[in-house]
Amino acid sequence: MFDKILIANRGEIALRVVRACREMGVKSVAVHSTADADAMHVRMADEAICIGPPSSAQSYLSFPAIISACEITGAQAIHPGYGFLSENAAFVQAVEDHDITFIGPTAEHIRVMGDKITAKDTMKALGVPCVPGSDGGVPTLAEAKKIGDEIGYPVIIKATAGGGGRGMKVAQTAADMEKAFHSARAEAKAAFGNDEVYIEKYLTTPRHIEIQVFGDGKGNAVHLGERDCSLQRRHQKVFEEAPGPCITPELRDRIGKVCADAVAKINYIGAGTIEFLFENDEFYFIEMNTRLQVEHPVTEGIFGVDLVREQLRVAAGMPMSFSQDDLKINGHAIEVRINAEKLPEFAPRPGRITQYHAPGGLGVRMDSALYDGYNIPPYYDSLIGKLIVHGRDRQEALARLDRALGELIVDGVETTLPLFHALLAEEAIQTGDYNIHWLEEWLEKGLL
Ligand code: ADP
Repeated sequence: MFDKILIANRGEIALRVVRACREMGVKSVAVHSTADADAMHVRMADEAICIGPPSSAQSYLSFPAIISACEITGAQAIHPGYGFLSENAAFVQAVEDHDITFIGPTAEHIRVMGDKITAKDTMKALGVPCVPGSDGGVPTLAEAKKIGDEIGYPVIIKATAGGGGRGMKVAQTAADMEKAFHSARAEAKAAFGNDEVYIEKYLTTPRHIEIQVFGDGKGNAVHLGERDCSLQRRHQKVFEEAPGPCITPELRDRIGKVCADAVAKINYIGAGTIEFLFENDEFYFIEMNTRLQVEHPVTEGIFGVDLVREQLRVAAGMPMSFSQDDLKINGHAIEVRINAEKLPEFAPRPGRITQYHAPGGLGVRMDSALYDGYNIPPYYDSLIGKLIVHGRDRQEALARLDRALGELIVDGVETTLPLFHALLAEEAIQTGDYNIHWLEEWLEKGLL
């Protein structure tokens, strides 16, 4: 095992990694921008080092700043968290070139999965079910129209380099194709500097179901079931649960095995998530995230395992501490993402926290870097905490979420907490009967 690792991130996820390190007897190094000098991850890590000014480009995204921080502190490995450099193949290559271990997959795996077309081709070849669509990029409108006619409308035009829901346009009928095709390309060009697009059948009322996988890099891999992340606003998840309310043990075993076998075959190392749209009991691959996800705690809740600990183990060349047969689901877990944003427009509201009180009690986990008097800087993501609850079943988890939300106090800035109080009063949330459009449609009704 490593003696010391560096965490190339901030906020709750940096703290999450510090916690795993401490339990494992591994020393942790926090990096921070000048805006984060007073941040909780800086206080909690064994060492901290300032790597630049507030702008992420000059701090949390700077290869030389992070690699030199590693060299100065003698850290042997880098945990990237999520976001920032976690899926940057060039960074992983630079880290390896400096004889530092990247706690995550190889640069090659990140590269393959980072391009939507190569990711889909690879998954298809590995036997993972995909959304029907074009074979690779679609360069011309004429070709786009031909594919639309072949697979049938509605279709969705998506950026090859896509991410964060940008560069996606739906054509409901053949008449919409011209406009949708050109605007998807223009948006892709502006967002990613690459206007290549591909086409998929547009699924009308799917759920977002993702499978957590984990590999040791030596041809062994397991799956840790699914998470249902269908409650999304602008393609951003806000509420996640495991197990999925509509996934039977048979469906889970079937898709889980396909995913574990696929990542085992490519010698995948570390944590990964294979995302699907799920409609009429069928799974359709959309993308793979080659990192730890924001919503990983719901999986940890139902399996009772520490995924960050496992990430460190396999990165250090050790075996995973569990096999597929050891992994049994216990109860139900739900996570809500709390942002410093003003409702109903979800406008970021950084500022000083005048009072913070975290909920507690049986089955409650609060992953947050907040503290009384903390000043949320305006430069980064507005996520300020994740409240995760675990219960013996879904009903108990929902009741516990309601109770824990009632205990949580965040004063000084506006937050998205009222959204969750309102959601819990909805029948669809209580019964689990929602799809990826439900939240947007509910928000449009103006009930918030
Ligand atoms: P990104 O990487 O930009 O997040 P994804 O491919 O993961 O893009 O898709 C994001 C979201 O867009 C999905 O969760 C879903 O809501 C919607 N989406 C993507 N592809 C389709 C499709 N073929 N049919 C219906 N909705 C889709």
